[in-house]
Amino acid sequence: ETLGVVGESGCGKTTCGRTVLGLYDRTDGEVLYRGKDVHKLKGEERKQFTKHAQIIFQDPYASLDPKMKVQDIIAEGIRAHGLAKSEKEIKERVNELLVTVGLDAQYGERYIHEFSGGQRQRIGIARALAVEPEFIVCDEPISALDVSIQAQIVNLLDKLQEEKGLTYMFIAHDLSMVKYISDRVMVMYLGKVVEITAADRLYEQPAHPYTQALLSAIPIPDPHVEAKKERIKMGGEIPSPVDPPKGCRFQNRCKYATERCREEEPALRLIGEDHYVACHLEDE
Ligand code: SF4
Repeated sequence: ETLGVVGESGCGKTTCGRTVLGLYDRTDGEVLYRGKDVHKLKGEERKQFTKHAQIIFQDPYASLDPKMKVQDIIAEGIRAHGLAKSEKEIKERVNELLVTVGLDAQYGERYIHEFSGGQRQRIGIARALAVEPEFIVCDEPISALDVSIQAQIVNLLDKLQEEKGLTYMFIAHDLSMVKYISDRVMVMYLGKVVEITAADRLYEQPAHPYTQALLSAIPIPDPHVEAKKERIKMGGEIPSPVDPPKGCRFQNRCKYATERCREEEPALRLIGEDHYVACHLEDE
């Protein structure tokens, strides 16, 4: 499955992804992987988890060491987890990974500054795949790329998922980016999940006013439809996440806000088949 995670900057989606991986401490709740709490894993269990759960970053240039050859960057995880018996086997494995992500096997001899943004992201994907993970947090992997390259990376991730049975948590800042890759979508606002459901249902029947506003901002390629479309404007500023408003965190920007919204925080609850929403409107 691919879970798309969407929200404006500062909503906590990257923090959520890193907390799921155990890279950040949690403040509450549990993260379960095969029934075990990720934040309590120690020793060999912890090492196995870091093999099974990987991350791809938004900016591959900042996350890949410029002083290392590409083959050494990709081989790091293979060595750390003892996944090959000899240097020859490591080299063969790296070459295979480069070809898997659509690069020439000879590129292993080069340095990261010699590549374009899209190629660097392919190297970041090869590095994550090197340890044969089951789950990958894709932290805005296409946000910094040209639109023409974005589709290529999404198609590559899709193909790899099919071939290797991977699970993705795909983080993005707008709903158009996660539309084609997600099975389910989770929308976050100011540190909270406001809606989560199957991707098709979210795009066809968005229930939370924030999701509705995000969807109305996606341009439609047909100019006639686009001209007639109602765009929902969000008023007000995004409040500071360190000092969120009382009640519903979206209340200062929501046209439906009532007195209850200003006092009482809405809980995330089931409103239909696999459809969770945190909004008081659902009581009415
Ligand atoms: Fe708007 Fe109230 Fe729903 Fe919050 S709880 S989204 S303020 S209607």
